[in-house]
Amino acid sequence: MKITILTLFPEMFESLNASILKRAQEKNLIEINIVNIRDYSLDNNKRCDDYSYGGGAGMIMTPQPLFDAISSVKTDKSYTIYLSPRGKVLTQEKVVELAKTQKELILICGHYEGIDERIIDLCVDEEISIGDYVLTGGEIPAMVLIDSISRYIPNVLGNNITTEEESFSNGLLEYPQYTRPQVFRGLKVPEVLTSGNHKEINNWRLEKALEITKLRRPDLYKDYCKKRQNRYLFLR
Ligand code: SAM
Repeated sequence: MKITILTLFPEMFESLNASILKRAQEKNLIEINIVNIRDYSLDNNKRCDDYSYGGGAGMIMTPQPLFDAISSVKTDKSYTIYLSPRGKVLTQEKVVELAKTQKELILICGHYEGIDERIIDLCVDEEISIGDYVLTGGEIPAMVLIDSISRYIPNVLGNNITTEEESFSNGLLEYPQYTRPQVFRGLKVPEVLTSGNHKEINNWRLEKALEITKLRRPDLYKDYCKKRQNRYLFLR
């Protein structure tokens, strides 16, 4: 997958060059291009923001540099996303959908009070939010999106099974995980996990996942039960 990030702060993306994402880029599984919107400003001082029509505190990113930056990278295959608190909140379902259906993403990172609405009208396919709170810029949301999508690109994770069993993949939060030592500060790993009985281990994990989801995310639990039309679990 090819991902192009449009930002006023390219230096914020240095952290994409570490760990799994670094390896994925080295293996050409993901190509990440960072474009500095300021390079496209036709203003003598390379300004990319201006006052808001109608008044109000804060600056708005002007349309010209953004439009020209997008035009310079857009192809027939591009899908353009504006990271925005007004967007639909990102879910695992959306992450998987984007990973499976898109080959080229353009991510627009807003800053200040956001971008001129006409850029959204003219160039944006979808607005995505990473949660119901406001950040100073779209750079961290863009990194969240890239990181979460990358995990669903074949061969990015060493072991493809990893995404199948974790939180949200089956509609539930993940069961508790343990590693060595077997006893830590007096706390023992549940016996079933060291029994070698895979059927029992799977049952225990499902039970724990249901328990945790019911307690912490009743909304997910309800959906899970509804989807399986399992009245017994729903009433438990
Ligand atoms: N005035 C905007 C509003 O009230 O919706 C907030 C602008 S915010 C300070 C600046 C930029 O940060 C936005 O243009 C957007 O790109 C990004 N941003 C902030 N919070 C976000 C979130 N929850 N999800 C995605 N992007 C966000």
